[in-house]
Amino acid sequence: MLYSLIGMIVVCGSTAALFWTTRLERKARRLDELDQLKSEFVSRVSHELRTPLTTIKALTRLLRRGDVSAEKQREYLETISIECDRQIDLILNLLDLSRIEGGVFRIDLERVEVGEVITSCVTAEMAAAGKRKHKLEIKPFAGIPPIYSDPKHLRRVISNLIENSIKYTPDGGLILVSANTEANNVAIRVTDNGRGIPKEDLPSLFDKFYRGRPSPHSAAAATAGMNEEILGDADVSGVGLGLYLARDVMKRMGGRISVETKIGEGSTFTLHLPIWKADECAKQSTEVKENAKTIAGC
Ligand code: ADP
Repeated sequence: MLYSLIGMIVVCGSTAALFWTTRLERKARRLDELDQLKSEFVSRVSHELRTPLTTIKALTRLLRRGDVSAEKQREYLETISIECDRQIDLILNLLDLSRIEGGVFRIDLERVEVGEVITSCVTAEMAAAGKRKHKLEIKPFAGIPPIYSDPKHLRRVISNLIENSIKYTPDGGLILVSANTEANNVAIRVTDNGRGIPKEDLPSLFDKFYRGRPSPHSAAAATAGMNEEILGDADVSGVGLGLYLARDVMKRMGGRISVETKIGEGSTFTLHLPIWKADECAKQSTEVKENAKTIAGC
């Protein structure tokens, strides 16, 4: 009796020890993974900050030599401006991330005219699209009601989507931005005829730091005439924050983001945002009050 009791205690003890060892091992593995993710992120950010600076410095040196044609001068200045924008975007994304993580991210909701926001984003991205010989167009729309949003953050989300379309579409692509009304929402769409997103990437697409793995050898991609240089993400700028921030910001504005995509045919990212209704202002402000600091115009 005593021996079987001691036996039971020993078995229970070793089962508990095994349980705690397994848990500790799992935790240690997770910490290792996070550590690696952080190191990769730091090295990617450093690379992303250094690359545009190298280009800017080289072009400035050429311009200072003075023996550059007027056409080349314009081209170099355009590239310098695009590279500066790229750096500013990265820094703004990093600042947003740190504000979100620090719990001090601020959204100011107000009545927003969709057409104005879309036009300003498309105008700002025109030079970058032109450099890759893409056609960037607004699909004509009319009669779209105003929405309830933070124009500054909405502009950043739409610009990020257009920049992704520019990056992940082989040269000479078509990028369309459109808007239409759907029930109580306005849907803003950014559509490209780029490489599309592999379905294995979809579950993690909006995760922090996630960068997709293209499938360069897929038959559809090959048919679409894509080469590995365009498809390899190692050469495409980015740190995997754009879609994570887009989803977070859309949620805070009472909206959502979704994607439809087909390999070799392209992707459409859709933003749904609530239509502005002055009399429902109070109700909507309650719905989003956890995230919004001020509700302008209410
Ligand atoms: P980044 O572009 O910095 O890698 P994002 O968060 O903006 O980060 O995008 C995450 C991933 O989603 C990208 O690495 C890319 O693989 C994929 N992706 C985003 N937009 C597109 C698009 N329009 N076409 C194809 N792939 C896309």
